[in-house]
Amino acid sequence: MALPTIAALTPSDWDVEIHDARTTPVDYGKKVDLVGITSYTADITNACKIADGFRSRGVKVVMGGVHVSALPDEALQHADSVVVGEAEAVWKRLLRDCEKGELKKIYKADTLIEMSGMAIPRRDLLDSSMYSSFYSVQATRGCPFNCEFCTVTAFFGQEFRVRPVEDVIEEIKGLNSKEFFFIDDNITGRAGFAKSLFKKLIPLNLKWGGQTTLNFAKDEELLSLYARSGGRYAFIGFETLSDENLRKISKSWNSPDGYREAIKRIHGVGINIVGSFIFGLDGDGPDVFERTFNFIMENKIDAAQFHILTPFPGTKLYDDMVKDGRISDSDWSKYHTGEVVFKPAKMTVRELQEGYWWIFHKTYEMKNILRRSLRSPRGIVYRIGTNLSYRKKARKMSHVVL
Ligand code: SF4
Repeated sequence: MALPTIAALTPSDWDVEIHDARTTPVDYGKKVDLVGITSYTADITNACKIADGFRSRGVKVVMGGVHVSALPDEALQHADSVVVGEAEAVWKRLLRDCEKGELKKIYKADTLIEMSGMAIPRRDLLDSSMYSSFYSVQATRGCPFNCEFCTVTAFFGQEFRVRPVEDVIEEIKGLNSKEFFFIDDNITGRAGFAKSLFKKLIPLNLKWGGQTTLNFAKDEELLSLYARSGGRYAFIGFETLSDENLRKISKSWNSPDGYREAIKRIHGVGINIVGSFIFGLDGDGPDVFERTFNFIMENKIDAAQFHILTPFPGTKLYDDMVKDGRISDSDWSKYHTGEVVFKPAKMTVRELQEGYWWIFHKTYEMKNILRRSLRSPRGIVYRIGTNLSYRKKARKMSHVVL
């Protein structure tokens, strides 16, 4: 929702269009005064080419987002200006400078933005059929934790910020949809806030999903409110089954000893779990894939996302890997968590890559999908649907036998 939010903050004497270069070709001939570009790390090379294309035609270009904020000098080779950090606080100033022909090289907010009265994203500028996350809402920013591999705290700062509950509820009502997604990185990051929000959601009778840490299962009231307010699924970062790995990535508040019990409690209130797992952490050997697969099946984790450890710029992991000379590939297009771009500690690059493909295929074999999805009649349609979409992704990957 970054671009629709920026669009909402743009004064009405500017006409705004949002274009997704991942799905439609760029029209370089379009008469525009300013092009703003944001991109994931994996798409940044293409984003820079687009910036070059517009600038070669005399159009001013500004770039921003998580990757650009981490490496502003790289973006400045392709853009007139870069925005470092949250764009909301500097956007109007940047536009005024643009109107005067006085764009500065770097725009960086001195403070984090105020969460009260936040702009409502201009969803009208998006094609709802193109985005599964179209009906998404942000209630908080940041995360109270700071896991080494994660860009969230690096970008949003250590402070976990929340919007007024009433603002969030009003935005949700305005979606006119029976289902939505909280795009927050950790919707239960502040239990008191989450409880107030969930209580206000109950009368709306909606269904929703969000991202959370496993910690929310320790708080009975929070867990119950999550479910009663319509929370049907939760994306949860388990990351690894190893205490040693968790310690190394500064996530030791997650405890594998408590995983089984937490999963039972979450399933018990009717919430489906999409678990996230990372491979290639320094404690991982070639046996990690089979152990993780067995864990997923034994605990009937409803669906799982797998990631190869990826050192994204801006994270401590990236800085450490650069310092230790462990980055083996600097081609940003490979930084999508599905390819190995560093030297693993306890397995070869090939073992890591093939193990990742193996677990993806194995988890989404039909018989394994059914074994997990049939754990309860409640929510079975959601589980099968989600699994089939991951299966589609798995089928595009190389098939390997470990
Ligand atoms: S808990 Fe999740 S969102 Fe928060 S820092 Fe860790 S990985 Fe990032």
